[in-house]
Amino acid sequence: MIDNLDMLYDIIDHVNIGMTVLDKDNRVVFWNKFMAKHSGIHSSDLLGKNLFDVFTYLPKQWMELKLKSVRLIKNYSFVSWTQKPYLFRFSHSSMIKGNGVDFMHQDCTFIPVSDPLTGDIYVCITIHNMTDVVISQMKLSEISDINKTLEQITNHDNLTSLYNKMYIETQIQQEFNKAKRYGNIFSVLFFDIDDFKGVNDQYGHLAGDEVLKKIAETMKKHLRQSDIIGRYGGEEFLILLPETNLKSASMMAQRLRATIESMTTQYKDKEIKVTISLGVVQFRPDIKNASQMIHEADLALYHSKKNGRNRVTLYKITGCAAMKTPG
Ligand code: GH3
Ligand code: MG
Ligand code: MG
Repeated sequence: MIDNLDMLYDIIDHVNIGMTVLDKDNRVVFWNKFMAKHSGIHSSDLLGKNLFDVFTYLPKQWMELKLKSVRLIKNYSFVSWTQKPYLFRFSHSSMIKGNGVDFMHQDCTFIPVSDPLTGDIYVCITIHNMTDVVISQMKLSEISDINKTLEQITNHDNLTSLYNKMYIETQIQQEFNKAKRYGNIFSVLFFDIDDFKGVNDQYGHLAGDEVLKKIAETMKKHLRQSDIIGRYGGEEFLILLPETNLKSASMMAQRLRATIESMTTQYKDKEIKVTISLGVVQFRPDIKNASQMIHEADLALYHSKKNGRNRVTLYKITGCAAMKTPG
């Protein structure tokens, strides 16, 4: 046990924690070296003075209330930098180069200390420098943002923001593998814009781009959360419908066909209307891989084109079956 007060003071002065003690009138009765170093005010110039007279920027009302309650309840009170970045406006000299961290971020603890002789309750405030933690967290969140951007660039199509060819193919292959192993059913829907060349020729390439974006937006609105849509090529799209049999997928396809038929893309003063042709295929255990499944959906789509466009064709092992198009 250390009962030499000088030794104790020495220890308190050398720990990397700020420590100050306030009496019942919030006058400073103790101010360790950490506090002196970071505030630039030596303890001999501060002792006996009211803390709020010297540090006028402190949140006086809030702190006085906190000090009062700590004295009253005689319990610790903790203030994290996440609630209040700092109490004392100290500059930080973090080794990590941080941008956007102006002052030393602090975790502060208010500790009630009673004088056994007088019964007076003092409050000791300790200050932990949290700046390195803050900067590290900022860097981590920057890295996470970069990763998100990279993921967006890698998996998405620039123009429509839908998933790109590589991503949707991978997703279909994964769903295919799952279906092979566990026997769950899923379907793939392939669609292509009808006479899109004509749209470009008549309204210009930029107008064509607007149509692609509008279709992407509309599709996203009409699909379920679990469905995955990707831009497969110029004006071709693939949709993966998990847990969906051919009947439900064909109903979905008809709905999407009708939605696009009634959709209008506004480009400058022009109102552009397009239709789409679709092909639908359901997983079967005899299909070799995702590529074959996409190919079958493409054959069904080709059938829709050949039969007059703006329609849905279901791929069946017995041959493509065109669905009756209403209207
Ligand atoms: P079909 O009904 O048989 O599908 O006729 P189509 O005119 O849609 O098909 P075709 O394959 O002849 O033409 C596709 C057109 O799509 C040609 C190409 O310039 C256009 N296209 C592909 N990608 C884009 C794009 O990113 N933006 C625009 N504006 N047009 C594109
Ligand atoms: Mg087309
Ligand atoms: Mg095409």
